[in-house]
Amino acid sequence: MANMADNGAEKTEIKCSSCGSKMRAEITQMPMWLGSELNLIENVPAHVCDKCDLQYYDPHIEAAIRALVGAGFPSHQARSHITVPVFQLDPYLPDAEKPEQPKRSPSIEPESFSDSY
Ligand SMILES: [Zn+2]
Repeated sequence: MANMADNGAEKTEIKCSSCGSKMRAEITQMPMWLGSELNLIENVPAHVCDKCDLQYYDPHIEAAIRALVGAGFPSHQARSHITVPVFQLDPYLPDAEKPEQPKRSPSIEPESFSDSY
């Protein structure tokens, strides 16, 4: 005997598996790498821990994410495309940790203007 409708009595208070705190329902965005390509899934319902930010997804959400990944993020299903800035840590690393880079003079090279004459 299956009770189809649990009208409003949906008691899904989930406790964080890491710290035991209460988790809040939240709509999240999920960046995902597929090979060298970054894909973003938006409007992903998740449970997020109030304390440690651990995220948990309902089984049917997780299955849908897996299905999308398994389908290889079909480009015709993409709702939109965004361009993201790409950074490196170099400016924030101490000098000793910086990878060797060819020294470049900060002054403007006169050669680059020769065309205008
Ligand atoms: Zn937690």
